[in-house]
Amino acid sequence: MDRTQQLEKLRDIILEWNEKINVTAIRDPQEFDRKNVQDSLAILPLPEYEGAKEVLDMGTGGGFPGLPLAVCSPEKSFVLADAIGKKLKVVQAAAQELGLVNVETVHARAEDMAKTKVHREHYDLVVSRAVANMATLSEYCLPFVKLGGFFVAYKTEDAAEEIEAAKGAIARLGGHILRVEKASSNNDALLNGHVFVVVEKIAKTPKEYPRKAGTPGKDPLK
Ligand code: SAM
Repeated sequence: MDRTQQLEKLRDIILEWNEKINVTAIRDPQEFDRKNVQDSLAILPLPEYEGAKEVLDMGTGGGFPGLPLAVCSPEKSFVLADAIGKKLKVVQAAAQELGLVNVETVHARAEDMAKTKVHREHYDLVVSRAVANMATLSEYCLPFVKLGGFFVAYKTEDAAEEIEAAKGAIARLGGHILRVEKASSNNDALLNGHVFVVVEKIAKTPKEYPRKAGTPGKDPLK
């Protein structure tokens, strides 16, 4: 099977599971290709992606962006994490059916997982889509990034204000926004208004972060 066929198979598997377990609101196959698959893959040309070996997808849900990326980058290894176990069952089933040997799942909240030695400051790249506002998301994701590595958030252009407001939080967590880059693809109209917030890890995250489960969401860092 080539990549296109694998991505089509991924779509069919997720849509079939979706009838039993609700993992995505998108039910139309074409819309699925555009909003879940192409959108996930828009990160491929970024140098921060190209250079990464170990990638964490935090709040992967039904496997996005992690699963399409794992299909297209067999040379990288992916950890797909989420607080909801039943969504990860779908991710595991899809990975198994596709024969993806570069995917592992972790069932945990980011705030708890970040306290474990094996995961903290371990990843070359952490990605995340549609999980939380930028300040909360940075507290979830930056603790996992190794020094010199990157956190890339999938956002939309209308997030400019929340990105600006998260600068203080990002600095406290050891990060620095390198750039906000427009997502592009073969057909740019597909990704209209989507951006990547590229954050570099320039200092270790202080031990007190992330705060206890629930706090980053309720009381985002300023
Ligand atoms: N990233 C996927 C996508 O773009 O289709 C799923 C997005 S879904 C709207 C948000 C996901 O983030 C949910 O599956 C939820 O369980 C997960 N999530 C939210 N807060 C989390 C946390 N603190 N730790 C781990 N997962 C979290």
